[in-house]
Amino acid sequence: MKEQLYPYHINFLVSIFNLFDVDPYIPTRNQDTTMWSQQFSGTLSERDCQQHIPHQFDVPAGLTALIIDYEYSPAEIDGFKNLCTLSVYAPDGCRGAAHRDPKKQHIVISSGDSTPGFTSGAITAGRWQIDIDSHMVLPGEPLRYTLTISGSSDPQSAAPTWTSSITAPRGAGWYRGNLHSHTFHSDASMSATDLVRWARSENFDFVALTDHNTISGLAQMDSLGADDLLVMGGIELTTFYGHALVMGVRDWIDWRVRADRNMLDIQREAEARGATFIIAHPFTPGGKYCTGCHWEYSEMMPGTARLLEIWNWTWDGDSNNQDAVELWYTWLNQGYRIFATAGNDIHDVPTEPLRLGFNVVYAQELSEREILAAIRKGHNYLSSAPKLNFEGRTLDGQTILLGEQLPAGTLNLDWANCGDSDLGKLIVNGQQAAVFAAKSAGSLHWTPQPDWKWAVVEIRDDQGNLKAITNPIFIG
Ligand SMILES: [Zn+2]
Ligand SMILES: [Zn+2]
Repeated sequence: MKEQLYPYHINFLVSIFNLFDVDPYIPTRNQDTTMWSQQFSGTLSERDCQQHIPHQFDVPAGLTALIIDYEYSPAEIDGFKNLCTLSVYAPDGCRGAAHRDPKKQHIVISSGDSTPGFTSGAITAGRWQIDIDSHMVLPGEPLRYTLTISGSSDPQSAAPTWTSSITAPRGAGWYRGNLHSHTFHSDASMSATDLVRWARSENFDFVALTDHNTISGLAQMDSLGADDLLVMGGIELTTFYGHALVMGVRDWIDWRVRADRNMLDIQREAEARGATFIIAHPFTPGGKYCTGCHWEYSEMMPGTARLLEIWNWTWDGDSNNQDAVELWYTWLNQGYRIFATAGNDIHDVPTEPLRLGFNVVYAQELSEREILAAIRKGHNYLSSAPKLNFEGRTLDGQTILLGEQLPAGTLNLDWANCGDSDLGKLIVNGQQAAVFAAKSAGSLHWTPQPDWKWAVVEIRDDQGNLKAITNPIFIG
């Protein structure tokens, strides 16, 4: 289905002003050359929720900056937030998104320094489009907005340039790090510099930036690695019916699900570009609480899904992660080879110690390509502290890694860095097959029974909160 222009009950005003017009919406910038402006306004109701509402306009030649002023109200109804964010499309491609909460935004997109969330570069003449992405329009009082776009041909300061960093690959081994984080290029308070500093304080080997629906922070992120820390790139597709991490890309991925483009199409497109696709936090409550946060794509339950973030943020007291583990076990029992990931989903520099889950990956080298290749094969476990080595040993002495198939032989587990009251569990075919007091360290061996299809190790504290979990070893 083709998108209609202005299909909603928007009462829009479109005005084009010349040099001598006075427009109260033009921001107070030093615009001594071209003055051009266009204004839209509209009213949205509950039935306009979860739409990409386009506003098209023709940008004249010779501009160096577009200035967008956007405002809407009410901010909240009965304690819940409206959320209508902006995405901007130039004739030659997406220029970014402002996936963030403020109800009054001033955005500059220019050939110089642009507002975080948007990429700098030439202001191409031609048909542009700004979408209002109506993540939440609450029932009750209608939402009223104004969107004013003005142009400047003032000289702009030079855009910042970043030189990509190089991390020495280091060779095959275990590497730990985070696959899911945000900066102020979307809705976080952290800068990329803050994120990388925090990752170093956690002694991570790698950290990925995955801002909501924008790649504008990745160039700076790519400049911040060194031999001690690999920086990785991605984007969190923050759709109306679920979030997905697309890892290993530097180009924008069109996150808009439409009648003619479902999540399978988006996954296929991302993977064709070499990306790794992970369903994020499938059980985070959606609706008024966090529109789109709950995974609702029936075509990927699991369909072609191969990676599932079962551990988002901290585990403590959080049943949403437990629900994700149970869904994953169900899919494994159905015969799907789906692997688990952890994602800190960090937005702010933590002010207190947090028990966040991270990934410990056996990769051929410390590089984005090899870390993601290992994740796709399930060569990783998730942990907030415990160190695990869970592997199979074939009858002729071959080692079988997490995510691989053990035809016959033994399952061997070594662990360390656990707590005195922690319990270890061997989970087979989704059921508890053995339980043991973990103490600080130890090792165990099991011989698989004929009906064993897959095995996972969990480490839990005395409250039942997960502290570590492996990917499965398939058996038989
Ligand atoms: Zn998310
Ligand atoms: Zn996120």
